[in-house]
Amino acid sequence: MTLPEKAKKVLDVLEKEYPDARIALNFKTPLELLIATILSAQCTDERINKTTPALFKRYKKAEGFAEADLKELEGYISSINFFRNKAKNIRACCKKIVDEFEGKIPDTLEGLVTLPGVGRKTANIILGSAFGKDAIAVDTHVKRVSNRIGLAASDNPDKIEQGLCKIIPRKRWVKVTILLILHGRNICIAKKPKCEICPVKRYCAYFRNIVNVKR
Ligand code: SF4
Repeated sequence: MTLPEKAKKVLDVLEKEYPDARIALNFKTPLELLIATILSAQCTDERINKTTPALFKRYKKAEGFAEADLKELEGYISSINFFRNKAKNIRACCKKIVDEFEGKIPDTLEGLVTLPGVGRKTANIILGSAFGKDAIAVDTHVKRVSNRIGLAASDNPDKIEQGLCKIIPRKRWVKVTILLILHGRNICIAKKPKCEICPVKRYCAYFRNIVNVKR
């Protein structure tokens, strides 16, 4: 089986397994997704979703975040890891959006990665889920699951992204990100993957190795 064929089989199975797959962060606008994604580093999406309603009620536009009193902004996100740094990043990021992008979130990778606190992964999440553009975001789950299955063979997120883009049709790029994240959270867990109940184990290189070792 070629890699594109394997990727197709895996995605077909995962789409059936997670029919309602969507990004776990709640948002209504690209700005809200940008802020939520910055906040979500090393924090659970549940915690972010509990925190953002009040935050987004208080600050509705990039201008609001850019001009926010730092202490007040910190107060809204104080239950989140590294909230002081994240508050600074959010303010700096929104200041740049106001100063250089007329208050609008850039809808290109090149524009997004110039924003403080926004790396390639975050930029691709925004492009895919907020702007409906074809993009694969490689987070820790996508990296681990794609390597275990054998869809990738690298520790480098940029190389993994390039590789996945080559073997997966563009129209599935956003979905593959969400499906691999969900699968990594639910079944292909970092410490102890639940291979026995995994619906894609027949395609998985990691699982095949375990079976061969036991023989
Ligand atoms: S078989 Fe195991 S290692 Fe492979 S994807 Fe499933 S849970 Fe992960």
